[in-house]
Amino acid sequence: MIAKEKVAAFLVAQKPRSFCDECLARALGIDPSTAYRAAVKTGRSETYIREYGVCWNCDESRLISRASR
Ligand SMILES: [Zn+2]
Repeated sequence: MIAKEKVAAFLVAQKPRSFCDECLARALGIDPSTAYRAAVKTGRSETYIREYGVCWNCDESRLISRASR
């Protein structure tokens, strides 16, 4: 599975939780720069949202990703 697919599947499984790129990287066992790129690509899909919010995992206010439906 490529990183983008891992991120997409993870966000659907964790819906409606939001995750920052760092926590996505840690949860998926991929490096942070890969997670960032994957999250940006995933966020371009209309079924995913990328916005500023609070990460469910680390409680930091930063750019997060989540599945919208
Ligand atoms: Zn986080």
